[in-house]
Amino acid sequence: MVRGAFRPWLEERILSEDDDLLVVDKPSGLPVHGGDERLPGDVVSRLAERFRSRGESSYLGVHQRLDVGTSGVLLFVRRPELNGVVAKDFESGAVEKEYVAAVRIAPRSPLVRERTLELVHQVTTDGRRTRVVRSGGKLCKTGCRVLARREDRALLALRPETGRTHQLRVQLAAIHAPIAGDRDYGGSAASRLLLHARALSIPSLGRVFTSREPALLERFLHGDTDVLGAPTELRQTLADAAALRYPLLAQTQAFRWVNGWGDHLPGLVVDWYAGYATLSVLNEQAMAREAELGEHLRELGASSVHLKRRPRADIRLLDRAELAPATPLIGTAPGTPLIVRENGALLEILLGDGLSTGLFVDQRDNRKRLMDASRDASVLNLFSYTGAFSVAAALGGARRVTSVDTSGRALERAKHNFVLNGLDPEAHAFVRLDVIRYLTRQAGRAERFDWIVLDPPSFSSAGSSGVLRVERDYARLLELSLAVLAPGGRLLAVTNHRKTSHAALRALARKAAQKLGRDVIQVKELLSGLDCPDGAEGPEPSRAVLVTVR
Ligand code: SAH
Repeated sequence: MVRGAFRPWLEERILSEDDDLLVVDKPSGLPVHGGDERLPGDVVSRLAERFRSRGESSYLGVHQRLDVGTSGVLLFVRRPELNGVVAKDFESGAVEKEYVAAVRIAPRSPLVRERTLELVHQVTTDGRRTRVVRSGGKLCKTGCRVLARREDRALLALRPETGRTHQLRVQLAAIHAPIAGDRDYGGSAASRLLLHARALSIPSLGRVFTSREPALLERFLHGDTDVLGAPTELRQTLADAAALRYPLLAQTQAFRWVNGWGDHLPGLVVDWYAGYATLSVLNEQAMAREAELGEHLRELGASSVHLKRRPRADIRLLDRAELAPATPLIGTAPGTPLIVRENGALLEILLGDGLSTGLFVDQRDNRKRLMDASRDASVLNLFSYTGAFSVAAALGGARRVTSVDTSGRALERAKHNFVLNGLDPEAHAFVRLDVIRYLTRQAGRAERFDWIVLDPPSFSSAGSSGVLRVERDYARLLELSLAVLAPGGRLLAVTNHRKTSHAALRALARKAAQKLGRDVIQVKELLSGLDCPDGAEGPEPSRAVLVTVR
């Protein structure tokens, strides 16, 4: 269902539309054709959906591709008869294209001295990578001109004469000036590939299309990419983030609308719950613009926006009512308890009740994983909170689900969520206990579990076994958990501790298994969903692995 900016395609991203051609301004982050599981909703299928909803022909002749990370002018033919002419223009090289790229120039790059260069390379493409070769391969040619330079950063205008896969990215990497944000070819850190298609001319039709490069490229030049843009830019970035997530509406009513840096919005996290939003502000810049942000979110489709202030300072010292006001910043909160549906599970959300709402949206795909694999299993959910994992397991047909948490209120909410889903809480166990104590006790008992979910908070002083610091105590939690895992069982280990990477988590899991003498069959890194693009240091806000033991 289309709502606000949550639609397959935003009208402001249509550059030109008539009976012959459709020209769009592609946002970064969308594949043109054939997305993968993580990126459903490619440009072609989104545009086709837009046409169908208007009762128009959804025909789109594709003549040009842009990489997932590249933004800018992208042309489609709307009448099959026109394909021949346009194809000829593209194939003969008559079409002129201009791109802008933000790069970092290494000291040995010829761009240190030259302002214009003709880049000529031979390349081969194997699978998903292209590389420069000394002999053989195919010719690659690009005209390159420095538009602006500041220290080792530059904005370049690029005119490709050939059209090889990843051509501009590879050619610039080859002259030691990789495009910023290009993770495949050695670009420096940026929240997206800073490459934009800004002009395209089709001589036989006598037409030229242009799109101005995003302000992010210019800001890279000045080294201030950690800035929220001017109001119109900020609004557009929020709108693009919404449209990107449109395909998720088919499976869930709750997801992350904005995931901070990964969405080019550092210090900002926005979650969407069936039309209502929570806005988390994490730095001063975001806090200074709370009111404006609330208005943007409201205009882009949120019925209300609840504010969550998460300053770096120790939040326990601050007033709860100030950190998480009970009433919305803007708009009208739902009159009745808000219940959202996620992959068939119903979960109650409290928008104005502290910093958390009752659902951590980033674990959606992992809950689905558990749901799909828990038939007849006995499942242990540690730090179960409102039981979102527990409900998923029970709906998946788990024989028995045990939820462990120190908070009586969280357990009550978990039971309530069971009832909402027509599940009988009496058929399952809800244990109010410190997890370390529970696991220690359980080690001496016979019961073993087929599935364990270990998703602790990064810090807690709630337990009776003392303060829990995940960076210090995770290894112990893993060992205690693996000790009660049945043969062939699976442990889903999640951490939101910033400094624990996927690799570190995997190593911790292997080490814990080794210590217990348990044979690990597999430790699989689980990828984040479409709504949680990576942060500067990897997956955000959490990393998860699935451990299978013999
Ligand atoms: N895994 C949950 C999120 C965990 S939130 C989910 O996916 O929804 C953290 C939870 O851990 C809270 O409910 C808190 O009450 C509980 N908690 C904190 N310290 C604990 C401890 N030592 N033992 C058991 N539960 C604890």
